[in-house]
Parts: sequence; C-alpha cells; structure tokens
Amino acid sequence: MMDYRIGHGFDVHRLVADRKLILCGVEIPAELGLLGHSDADVATHALMDALLGTLALGDIGGYFPDTDPRWSGADSLVLLEEVLRLPAFTGWRLVNCDLTIVAQHPRLSPFRDRMRQRLADVLGVVPERISVKATTTEGLGFAGRGEGIAADCTVLLGRAD
Ligand code: MG
Repeated sequence: MMDYRIGHGFDVHRLVADRKLILCGVEIPAELGLLGHSDADVATHALMDALLGTLALGDIGGYFPDTDPRWSGADSLVLLEEVLRLPAFTGWRLVNCDLTIVAQHPRLSPFRDRMRQRLADVLGVVPERISVKATTTEGLGFAGRGEGIAADCTVLLGRAD
C-alpha cells in the first residue's frame, strides 16, 4: 500500500525592464524579466508551494520572507533544495509534477526540456516525471497584456505505508 499526498501551488510575478527572466532555473532571453525579492522564478515558486501544500506545511512566504536579506536575489532552485530538506519530507518521493506557465511572451516551448531537466535534477527524479507546459491567455488579462507571468503547479508525493 502507498500513502499519497497531492499539492497545488500558484504564483504571479510582474514583468519589468532590467531583470532576467528565469523560469524553472533556466534563463530565457527576453526583453523583460520578473520582479521579485529572489530571482522571481515564478514557476519554481509555484512548485515549492505545491510541495508545501502536499503536507500542509504552509507557503513559501513563511519560509523565505521578502524582508529577509538572505533571500535577496536568491536562486529559486536553491530555495527549492531548502524546501526539500524539511524533515517532514523524509520518506516521501515525488511521483510526478505538472506545471503550467502562463505567459504571452516569449515562446517557451524551445526551453521546455531544459526546464524539465533542471527541476528533475533538483527533485532527484527522471525528467519523465516532470511536466512543464506553457500557455498564453490569448491576450486577455495581466498575462495577456505582458504585465506579468503566472504559474500553476500540481505535485503528487507517495510513500510506502
Ligand atoms: Mg513568488
């Protein structure tokens, strides 16, 4: 028998000039980048919140407050490693992850496999267990106007009962 936990995460960051665009730890060439206290990797943030959600451990704001200078400019994959080191995750394995990035620009499909590999490496699973999808909103809303990027993530954890 296996015990399973599902988690969901959602995040949004604003697009501005003079910032890098980093998604799932991959730097994407773009005119605008995401604004935030860390590297503002909105996709990895949604994934971290999904992981925390599996075991009802709160949200990343509680672990990495934007008032803490330690996390200023932080690589979000390092924050993800921190989350995975929480004692509560001992014995749990990632079954799969399904992540959707909502962005009008740029086209993300050329970077999808690199993003999957980066996350898989940190999560300690094969990339076949990591899904990264991208969608536009057909020009509608903040994402459609290019004001920001959103990300939505679902993860499943399992452990032997
Ligand atoms: Mg965030």
